[in-house]
Amino acid sequence: MTDECIFCRIVAGEAPGDIVYQDERFLAFSDISPQAPTHLLVIPKIHITSFAELTEGQQELAGRLMMIAKNLAEKCGLAKSGYRLVINCGSEGGQVVPHLHLHLIGGRKLGGKLG
Ligand code: 5GP
Ligand code: ZN
Repeated sequence: MTDECIFCRIVAGEAPGDIVYQDERFLAFSDISPQAPTHLLVIPKIHITSFAELTEGQQELAGRLMMIAKNLAEKCGLAKSGYRLVINCGSEGGQVVPHLHLHLIGGRKLGGKLG
């Protein structure tokens, strides 16, 4: 937990978040500025600054993050129509919030351009 991290503050219940899933280690909530009808963020509760900081020992955590997104996509009715998972990493990757997060975006036809 870092005091300055907005996602850590959501985890701690110190900042509001429209939480759609949580377990002991992970949290998923609606993006404050949704890019599509469904736009969720899935995060580990522990503060990991970015994808680049993941260690070999955190493979299970990374896999679980993906599986939670898959399950949420199914729950949101997106499995058949399709959806996009995005992890922005670092400044040139477009990462704004320095706490690892996986975007789950869907509910409309998404453009082909990734950046
Ligand atoms: P990034 O560009 O770092 O991959 O994405 C950060 C995402 O976090 C953006 O889509 C942005 O709208 C979202 N975001 C930023 N601050 C907040 C917040 O305080 N609450 C929520 N729910 N989402 C946020
Ligand atoms: Zn954090």
